[in-house]
Amino acid sequence: MPGASRPVGGPDLEQVRRIVTEIPGPRSRELLARQRTLVPAGVGATLPVFVEAAGGGVLVDADGNSLIDFGSGIAVTTVGNSAPRVAERAAAQLRRFTHTCFLVNPYESYLDVCEKLNDLAPVPGEKRTVLVNSGAEAVENAVKIARAATGRPGIVVFDHAFHGRTLLTMSLTAKNKPYKQGFGPFVPEVHRAPMAYPYRWPTGPDNCAEDAAEALADLLDRQVGAENVAAVLVEPIQGEGGFVVPAPGFLPQVAAICRARGILLIVDEIQAGIARTGRMFACEHEGIRPDLITTAKGLAGGLPLGAVTGRAELMDAVPAGGLGGTFSGSPVACEAALGVFEEIEAHGLMERALEIGDTMLERLGELSDAQPAIGEVRGRGAMVAVELVELFGDRIPDANLAARVARRCHAEGLLVLTAGSYGNVLRFLPPLSISDALLEEGLTILAEALAKETASAL
Ligand SMILES: *Cc1c(COP(=O)(O)O)cnc(C)c1O
Repeated sequence: MPGASRPVGGPDLEQVRRIVTEIPGPRSRELLARQRTLVPAGVGATLPVFVEAAGGGVLVDADGNSLIDFGSGIAVTTVGNSAPRVAERAAAQLRRFTHTCFLVNPYESYLDVCEKLNDLAPVPGEKRTVLVNSGAEAVENAVKIARAATGRPGIVVFDHAFHGRTLLTMSLTAKNKPYKQGFGPFVPEVHRAPMAYPYRWPTGPDNCAEDAAEALADLLDRQVGAENVAAVLVEPIQGEGGFVVPAPGFLPQVAAICRARGILLIVDEIQAGIARTGRMFACEHEGIRPDLITTAKGLAGGLPLGAVTGRAELMDAVPAGGLGGTFSGSPVACEAALGVFEEIEAHGLMERALEIGDTMLERLGELSDAQPAIGEVRGRGAMVAVELVELFGDRIPDANLAARVARRCHAEGLLVLTAGSYGNVLRFLPPLSISDALLEEGLTILAEALAKETASAL
């Protein structure tokens, strides 16, 4: 059988960090050179080690290095890479049939995924779910549904938001480089309000929720006109924006402002949702009940699947043919998603996310007490970040330090990702299948990398 001799991933993969070459090693460097001749430069790579197998809490590369994974492919392999229930269900489906197009001939697994999301999503009343291929597509469809249901054009988003790379979703995204530069003109009727970002709120964290809510109301009432706004779209914890946890109370105020004006609330759970923060949906931490919720990343354990779940009367406002797509809700991805929900239940992964969060927040909190370069440690569950700042100055973002620490971690065999509007945030998204030993080892590597890079800067 072709490829039969290649390594097998999943939880049976040896759970150790093992560095046998420099990172990236010779084989990965050879493949990267090949990539440069085949793939456009616009497709970047955080750490160009080519992966051969992954599972539990490690990634094994083409040179035989085994790296600790604090990225989960950007919050995708939350239940672990090649998690058994995901892999088995998807493989069995591949042998039954690969595709029909749900718009041509439906199949039951699509319904099962929708039923699961309808049951779990903290959306009030009767619900419906539509499946798509990606996060950006989920956001695109949520906006289409909100416009169709309200008859209004406007969409309000926030500073530091990330919603995708398609034309609409990059228009909704805040950061210019690298997401928007050169790709305009952008979609009209997108308006931006300040995010209640406690660490960087000009008058300090205490009034942050109140002030940001007031700014939103002012934008709606005075600048745009609430009657022109279909929806406010917000991430419950901003992902690419640097794991900004909105000031406590802000999201409930946003929900109240929307409700009072007949504006829909769309919560983008694409990065924070699906057990990542210790709840199925991160907005549950703030007790809000959105009209529409988007999910993707962690939904199908690595297979491409996105969803919009919302109130039935809104979802049903779009006539037949207005939603869906050729590959949308692929039967293989649907089986994988059912496997994800089974893994979460079988292993108590929401509790595990909280445990991982406690470990990370405790270790990073201690580190931050001794380390002035850490401006803030924040996050929920297994979605935690440190924001790095210059040693001298008041909260001046230090993107260069973040890049150097990330590089040093990579060289030591710990995959970490950067984030943030200022590029100065290191974010940690370990798979919930990571062992305590690897989690601790990763945090130790991080602490040492930070100590070395700040010492060399003095
Ligand atoms: C990643 C992400 C998206 C876009 O998802 P893609 O699958 O990359 O299109 C949208 N919103 C949030 C919050 C994300 O983190």
